[in-house]
Amino acid sequence: MKKAFLLTAAVLFALTCTLGSAPAAQAKTTFVTIGTGGITGVYYPTGGAIAKMVNNKRKEYGIRATVESTGGSVFNVNAIMSGDLDFGIVQSDRQYQAIHGLAEWEGDPQKDLRAVFSIHPESVTLAAAVDADIKTIKDLKGKRVNIGNPGSGQRQNSIDALDAAGLDYAEDLMAEQVKAAEAPGLLQDGRIDAFFYTVGHPSGAFKEASAGRRKVRFVEVTGPGIDGMIKAKPFYAKSYVPVELYPGAVNESDVMTFGVKATFVTSAKVSEDVVYAITKEVFENFEDFKKLHPAYQVLTKEGMLEGLSAPIHPGAMKYFKEAGLK
Ligand code: GLU
Repeated sequence: MKKAFLLTAAVLFALTCTLGSAPAAQAKTTFVTIGTGGITGVYYPTGGAIAKMVNNKRKEYGIRATVESTGGSVFNVNAIMSGDLDFGIVQSDRQYQAIHGLAEWEGDPQKDLRAVFSIHPESVTLAAAVDADIKTIKDLKGKRVNIGNPGSGQRQNSIDALDAAGLDYAEDLMAEQVKAAEAPGLLQDGRIDAFFYTVGHPSGAFKEASAGRRKVRFVEVTGPGIDGMIKAKPFYAKSYVPVELYPGAVNESDVMTFGVKATFVTSAKVSEDVVYAITKEVFENFEDFKKLHPAYQVLTKEGMLEGLSAPIHPGAMKYFKEAGLK
């Protein structure tokens, strides 16, 4: 009898707890995850900057954005398409290739990929140890060079640059395919001679690479073959590395190369409200946003609508129309 009473009391107590907690559960928070890149790149702090803008208004929107360090652009596209990430930062060339079914997505266009806005410019940056005697891209022949991990955006840029310079990455050099975050350490340890990284400037990776005991030079990624490639591929444009950002490097003037733009993307499956809120907070607090990283100095609101090849997500479009940007 006593046992039965205790049991009933326990069940009643449990029920009260469940019912009691119901109102709290109704004030629901939408959690969104932003895929970025390695922590010594610019995507990682960029994801943080975007998350900060929307998290500042958590009470208004009920959105909690968090950032994940990932292997880069290609990984981010695939994780957004599979629903593992809600947003990601992706090179403009990779956005183009994914939506058109090219490169890693050959014959398999990622139809649900949606553009939100573009962000900072990124340069295909080649850094080499001075003692390896690499003065032009052609000098990479026979050298040990990191071209980028398979999930990265830069891997294909490195291959394109080498191709255009008449070098086959698999035959003419010893290509490593590790993450950009590991490359500066390998260079300083003498385990590689050079590495490519498509990134905004300044980046922690090149600060680390150029501040060590082994002297480092940025190498031009130029030449007639590369000029022809830039003309042939709609997503590449001329660009440069501003070397004053890396006082440890031996260069004395800016280094010419080519580049792309970082873009913010999502899936057609992500709700209009969430995309609208993030877009609005970044654009309405634009001056505060621009202060969050020196690579954003050159940003303009109009420029952030360029370099998008996937359809613009309706949530972003709603804001752009309201703001008179579209
Ligand atoms: N552009 C690189 C990539 O797509 C990432 C650069 C960064 O993390 O800033 O993989």
